[in-house]
Amino acid sequence: MQLENVRLFDGTSDRLEDARRIIIQRGVISKIAALPDQNNKQVDHLVHCSGLTAVPGLINLHVHLCLDASSDPLGSLVSDSNGMTILKMPLNAQRTLSGGITTVRDLGSPGNLIFELRKAIEEGAIPGPRIVASGEAITRTGGHGHGSLGCEADSEDGVIRAIRGQLKQGADVIKIMASGGVIDIGAGTSPYLASYTLRELKAAVEEVRRENIQIAAHAEGMEGIDLAVKAGIDTIEHGTFVNAAIIDMMLEKGTVWVPTISPHRFAERNREQLNKLLSEVKPLIRSIRDKERVGGGRNISAGALAHFEKYCMTEDLRIGLGTDAGTPFVPHEDLVLEMEMFMEYGFSNYQVLKMATLGNAQILKLDDHIGSIEEGKLADIVLVKGNPLDDLEALRQIAYVIKDGKVVFSNPTYIPGGTDCA
Ligand SMILES: [Zn+2]
Repeated sequence: MQLENVRLFDGTSDRLEDARRIIIQRGVISKIAALPDQNNKQVDHLVHCSGLTAVPGLINLHVHLCLDASSDPLGSLVSDSNGMTILKMPLNAQRTLSGGITTVRDLGSPGNLIFELRKAIEEGAIPGPRIVASGEAITRTGGHGHGSLGCEADSEDGVIRAIRGQLKQGADVIKIMASGGVIDIGAGTSPYLASYTLRELKAAVEEVRRENIQIAAHAEGMEGIDLAVKAGIDTIEHGTFVNAAIIDMMLEKGTVWVPTISPHRFAERNREQLNKLLSEVKPLIRSIRDKERVGGGRNISAGALAHFEKYCMTEDLRIGLGTDAGTPFVPHEDLVLEMEMFMEYGFSNYQVLKMATLGNAQILKLDDHIGSIEEGKLADIVLVKGNPLDDLEALRQIAYVIKDGKVVFSNPTYIPGGTDCA
């Protein structure tokens, strides 16, 4: 395949290069040349790209392909059989691609479903993003995600056994619930409290280190984040009530923060429906005791945004982009709102574009293969109308999504000439 006369944002600098030809062979970017290119001989499958900008395929660091982004996705997941869930997951995979997202890290799904989906996509049976999969999330007895997308495990031995169970199924990464969650708050855990002891978390970290993979921790309250960072967890998911001392420790250890802030905006847009859902959640009996331990207010959304604002621009702090796609109202196809919100808090177009591509690839340690448009890398390329360095809205005007050198999504509305020539 050849992309002809394309403007290039390669992900490595804030420069755009006009009039480029990108040659893709066997799924890999084999050559990037300036036009006119006298040496070019073979012309198979030419895509005319004038007016389009090539951007590296986007990467979402936090998704749940088993969740449907409805008002109560966990409810649907629990009421559906695993057979029904896996029938529904390809639609979420397809939606992901339609948003220009070619790689996701899936941090929690029931049984072996995500591994089956990953296999079907890798074999080419169905379209979908490249999946870095955790399988079931490790959670304490009665903890966040138990009975839905979690695997219950207690004590150091229990946690190690649960991790080995996920590895046996094919996990690329391990997810552990270091605090309770928000959407199943009535289930016996509180987002404000730590779910595991430091010893349990350390045992988990030691186990994944031996396997040379990474471990992500869901952590909302200050205590849970603190213990997770102390234990050596690689990525802190949400990190809602982070504080200055924890940020210092993260800087020292190189811990990555994946704040997932766009769900709060999506929730705001659907406030009425969400309130109804939350009012149906059982009252939190321990809420008064929890309150003493919160470390920064009880309102999760307000807390998340205030803490993000306070610490997001910390120099040298490693931050990743993820959306918790699939949770209430958070669509699988939308990584752009997260990027736009980062810009509201001070990041530039280039900074968020780099985070969503090469930055996230570096966090996954996959940057030798994906994250930028360079010769020798896998051909994960999004062709958009307009210039995302000027206006991020361009990322919502996707003409083509190419993954592994194949067109996996196209939209005639933004294709030059209006016809799908791919
Ligand atoms: Zn999540």
